[in-house]
Amino acid sequence: MGIGTLKTPATMTPKEYVSEVLSAVRSKNPAETEFHQAVQEAVESLIPALGKHPEYQRARLLERLVEPERVIMFRVPWFDDEGQPRINRGFRIEMNSAIGPYKGGLRFHPSVNLGILKFLAFEQVLKNSLTTLPMGGGKGGSDFDPKGKSDNEVMRFCQSFMSELWRHIGAHTDVPAGDIGVGGREIGYLFGQYKLLTGKGINWGGSLIRPEATGYGCVYFALEMLKTRKESLEGKLCLVSGSGNVSQYTVERLLDFGAKIIAMSDSNGVIHDPDGIDREKLAWIMELKNVRRGRVKEYAEKFKKARYIPVEPTLDHNPIWAIKADCAFPSATQNEINEKDAATLVMNGCKLVAEGANMPSTLDATRLFLEAGILYGPAKAANAGGVATSGLEMAQNSMGLSWTREEVDERLHKIMVEIHKNAFETADIYGKPRNLVYGANIAGFLKVADAMLDQGLV
Ligand code: NAP
Repeated sequence: MGIGTLKTPATMTPKEYVSEVLSAVRSKNPAETEFHQAVQEAVESLIPALGKHPEYQRARLLERLVEPERVIMFRVPWFDDEGQPRINRGFRIEMNSAIGPYKGGLRFHPSVNLGILKFLAFEQVLKNSLTTLPMGGGKGGSDFDPKGKSDNEVMRFCQSFMSELWRHIGAHTDVPAGDIGVGGREIGYLFGQYKLLTGKGINWGGSLIRPEATGYGCVYFALEMLKTRKESLEGKLCLVSGSGNVSQYTVERLLDFGAKIIAMSDSNGVIHDPDGIDREKLAWIMELKNVRRGRVKEYAEKFKKARYIPVEPTLDHNPIWAIKADCAFPSATQNEINEKDAATLVMNGCKLVAEGANMPSTLDATRLFLEAGILYGPAKAANAGGVATSGLEMAQNSMGLSWTREEVDERLHKIMVEIHKNAFETADIYGKPRNLVYGANIAGFLKVADAMLDQGLV
């Protein structure tokens, strides 16, 4: 049944309504499995909110929330270093602008498709709402793989990508940022082309702390979760998957709070260092990943006590989650923790999972964490520090101000404390104490839903 042929929502219970919306999302968007998963996780936890607010259901707010306001899809042609033409696909999903301009990163990875970007854009809407800042949700990117490409190839690709994207974005309409495969280098090339095409010499350099913000924010969120059990990060053994932007700054802040990080990874394998990854080793990893663009395998060749565990694509689990630790910070990609991984983590005594990556846990893994009663910080709350700091950057730009590192970090910290408090209290109010999945989804939804009602059927 298509969304347009649903029974009148007013005659359904919230549970029936959610189930109708979900089956319509599945049939209308076949093959977009990550999008189905993100929608399912969110809307099932909105049932208590729909129960208290029948007006949302009457206005078919869920159907409107799952339908992007606009999807832009375009060809990105570029020349490789051999002079051969290459063609990629570019996207921008403008999901929801009820509370502000579209805001969300760009991802360059060969796995990128419409379904993945729609899941990310959908999550972004609720996440941005949680930050308390006036930002709508969007996401974009390309199936271009920066890995193994020369700087010149990356530059030519970025220029071609921006040659189309520029007409859709702007400081008051849609503001992109980085994500997987889009770091400082790519942002620089994208911005250069944007400036060339538009003649807009807006502030270059961005806010201090923006590169660190997602990782730092995730650690601040973890601290708030631990505080509810009168615990701290001091001496805790931590696993941080990935070795990119979010992972690096998660490790940096964890070190500041006295934690011991014993594993990191990339898509090829895991490094397990029982001595701990200290500041010096982290600096080495940052140089390896951000400058030499190498693989984490080299870490085990450099630091002899570390063990390298390759990740075979046929494995039914991710070996990083089989290492015994107190806390897990999944910071690589979606669905990197499956049910088996979650069961192993819980069995090994893991007390906390704080999601730096977007949707890193499958629905079954999430269910297991919640059933086990461990501290579980879902992505849209735990990793909102990045976009929150982008929001702070927009505020600084419009005021013509540049806050110091300390000022931005302090504001970021306060926002993460607020997000935790809001999710924690909302979970309580809606009868799901300590369940931050319910808390974050409902709190993020309420603000967007009210704005959508106020603005009429648009
Ligand atoms: P990044 O700098 O490109 O790093 C990504 C890391 O994850 C790399 O170590 C990469 O390994 C690994 N990875 C990527 N795809 C993978 C896959 N399919 N399987 C296994 N490993 C994979 O990206 P990032 O900005 O740190 O983003 C990491 C996660 O955080 C993503 O889920 C992103 O959406 C989320 N996030 C990022 C931000 C931000 O501000 N950047 C904000 C909120 C959420 P390889 O090098 O082998 O590919």
